[in-house]
Amino acid sequence: MNGEEMVEELEAYYGLPEEVKFCKKCVVSNQRPRGAREFTINFKNEKKETMSFTEDGICEACQYAEMKKEDIDWDERERMLSRLCDKYRSKDGSYDVIVPGSGGKDSGVQAHTLKYKYGMNPLTVTWSPQMYTEIGWRNLMNWITVGGFDNYLFNPNGSMYRLFTREAFLNLFNPLQPFIYGHKYIGPRMALKQNVKLVMYGENIAEYGNKKSDNEVPYKQPGFYSAERLDLDKLFLSGLSIKELIKKHNLSMRDVNPFLPIERSELVKRGVEFHCLGYYLRWTPQESYYYAVENTGFEPNPKRVQGSYTKYKSIDAKMDWIHFYTYWIKFGIGKATMDASQEVRNGHITREEAETVMMVSFPVIISRIFWTILRLLKANSGREQIKRDHLIYGRKKMGNGT
Ligand SMILES: [Zn+2]
Repeated sequence: MNGEEMVEELEAYYGLPEEVKFCKKCVVSNQRPRGAREFTINFKNEKKETMSFTEDGICEACQYAEMKKEDIDWDERERMLSRLCDKYRSKDGSYDVIVPGSGGKDSGVQAHTLKYKYGMNPLTVTWSPQMYTEIGWRNLMNWITVGGFDNYLFNPNGSMYRLFTREAFLNLFNPLQPFIYGHKYIGPRMALKQNVKLVMYGENIAEYGNKKSDNEVPYKQPGFYSAERLDLDKLFLSGLSIKELIKKHNLSMRDVNPFLPIERSELVKRGVEFHCLGYYLRWTPQESYYYAVENTGFEPNPKRVQGSYTKYKSIDAKMDWIHFYTYWIKFGIGKATMDASQEVRNGHITREEAETVMMVSFPVIISRIFWTILRLLKANSGREQIKRDHLIYGRKKMGNGT
């Protein structure tokens, strides 16, 4: 059997295109899945919808980047944002907009612009990652103290977080999923609790290759932040239905409750709107970075992030790099590819330079963090096992004097 025949026999999993094509403008490939509604991801039947390319071989994200440069009247968009803020601005000092975020560069821009340029009174809300990096924690504090915002930080039950992370790693090969889950739903949850009618996200994920049409409206797609119905058979977390998860680990509703999405009808009834600031303001990651450094005390990572060459993206959580590493294994797209593609679209580097940085940023697996993560994922099935793991780990830590 020669090499060509072997290649032809390879099977494409998860509905990914059999022929791998790279965008002619940036360096992303047609294997990139579109952002999914997290609560529908079932490990038994996981078909991915991937980003589309034009006949000329240009990806959707590059098409949108061109549109941003030429076809959008940004002055008109700013006027629209002004009118939106006028509609929701509170007069009695109560919160009038929820800004979900971590204190990274994007949430820095969101909260600061809304508060100091548009006179809004944002409540910033944060769903904690499984494990903060030092710089991630410092940036959260900087956001609150230098930026000057009220913040609600939610830490879900660590045993459950750990268990769901392990399940997500084994079932989906995506240990970050429980974090993504919580991060998406903390905004609507807090809007309901605080009776706030506006939630403002940052850039639309369509900028990275979701449907281009998603960017043509100011609203965030409802599937991003809510579910039609809270049916435990049809809602999935970590690749299992909530019902299966409860049964498998002998859990109760209170264990899974913080991780459940919000029911859409409740949000519609209360009239909560979900917008993206990226629709109204021209958004480029590098400029967001400079803005956040100046206004919210944002600090970059002291060294390049694992698997890429940048220092200012995805630096909050210890789990981030392994998420991108597993993504690279599944889709052939690593953190460097994503970062480089975006910098090409924004005109910061050329396609040739992007190819080079992708080569030199090959994911590095040997790291202290890797062992820390393995310890976190060691949790075996059931709460008792988790408790034992905690005890064993705790004793070892004390025994070592660390
Ligand atoms: Zn492209």
